[in-house]
Amino acid sequence: MSLTNRILIAMVAGIALGSLLNLLAHSGAAPESVQAVLDDVLVDGVFDVVGRIFVASLKLLVVPLVLVSLICGSSSLGDSARMGPIAVKTLCFYLATTAIAVSLALLAAVVIGPGSHVELGGDYTYEASAAPPLVDVLVDIFPSNPVQAMAEGKMLQIIVFALLFGYAISHAGEAGRRLAGFFRDTEAVVMKMVEILMSLAPYGVFALLARLFSTMGISAIADLAAYFFTVLAVLVCHALLVYSLLLKGFTGLSPRLLLAKMRPVWAFAFSTASSGATLPVTLRTVERRLGVHNSVAGFTVPLGATINMDGTAIMQGVATVFIAQVYGVDLSMSAYITVILTATLASIGTAAVPGVGLITLALVLEQAGLPVAGIALIIGVDRLLDMVRTAVNVTGDATISVIVGRSEGQLEVAVFEDPRADQAGEGDRGPPLRY
Ligand code: ASP
Repeated sequence: MSLTNRILIAMVAGIALGSLLNLLAHSGAAPESVQAVLDDVLVDGVFDVVGRIFVASLKLLVVPLVLVSLICGSSSLGDSARMGPIAVKTLCFYLATTAIAVSLALLAAVVIGPGSHVELGGDYTYEASAAPPLVDVLVDIFPSNPVQAMAEGKMLQIIVFALLFGYAISHAGEAGRRLAGFFRDTEAVVMKMVEILMSLAPYGVFALLARLFSTMGISAIADLAAYFFTVLAVLVCHALLVYSLLLKGFTGLSPRLLLAKMRPVWAFAFSTASSGATLPVTLRTVERRLGVHNSVAGFTVPLGATINMDGTAIMQGVATVFIAQVYGVDLSMSAYITVILTATLASIGTAAVPGVGLITLALVLEQAGLPVAGIALIIGVDRLLDMVRTAVNVTGDATISVIVGRSEGQLEVAVFEDPRADQAGEGDRGPPLRY
């Protein structure tokens, strides 16, 4: 059976079993001793351990993969004059798509009005954690100690170091050529590690989802149905329509193929709710299945995982209007523009881990003059939306990587158009993965 199908079955089985366990726990149907065994041994035992090991193993590969992939990419660019334009183009696309995403979200929320019939009952409080000031975010991009940057997983710092290192390799003559060969070999080996881990994904995905759904109250959706489905609708529309139009418009390539190849990546994003943890799989897919050369993908994918968060911006756009409607505040035109600007910039400072979108939402609400306590209203369904928006975030990274790759002549169209790319046993790369 193909990997995609095995992961899909694991997802459905995990969600079903988790929901069943949740139901059982809430109905009190099982004797206390049985319930205790289910909770302690299964949910907080096996599922928790397997899920955490799975996420840890994914994260394990992030730093080595980004480092070697980007060093290979930037050293092979040779003509370093291309680096600047690639960086500027990528950044513009990332910011523009995020601005489109949040505008779409605002429009949908204003038209649908998810918060107009919600009564403010009870006492809502939310303790906002401080979001980092933008200046610090900018200065923090430049590393003073590469080892520390890697130890702390500071992605932007690693990107800067790797770019510089790769650039130096391509200008260091014979020594540089020897080192480039070493990094190319290392990259092939780390990619192999990603492949091994991907083949174990069904177990990890199953454990993560079973545990999550057994502890999560799905009933919260009923109370927040209008908000939940508005965010969901915009997320789906952005992922399927906006990205497809952009891809078709800028490259002429088939969006259907891209979406089909992204399916396994979505499963990782959905179950981990972290574009950071999903990064190894996104990078492998973009390079090996979508055909973007790693001189572009090695830069665009890690950068995208760190700063491009369209899904998160969509949640923030809908949440802002929802909270304004619940509190009966009329947002002015300038408030909407402020929300678009803040949400777009805040996505740069949003770490690629679960739930951070809520923290930067505080920043957006403050700028729009809305009560930050309103976040407490939507917290109940945030984890579920986080899973979906993370899938949208990684789709954006992949789409822009293909567009930039194509415009730089760094895209192998034959690979992109081959539905079986990365499946045919590629010589010494070992037995193939079947997607
Ligand atoms: N979980 C999201 C991500 O990693 C960030 C967020 O929206 O909280 O992409």
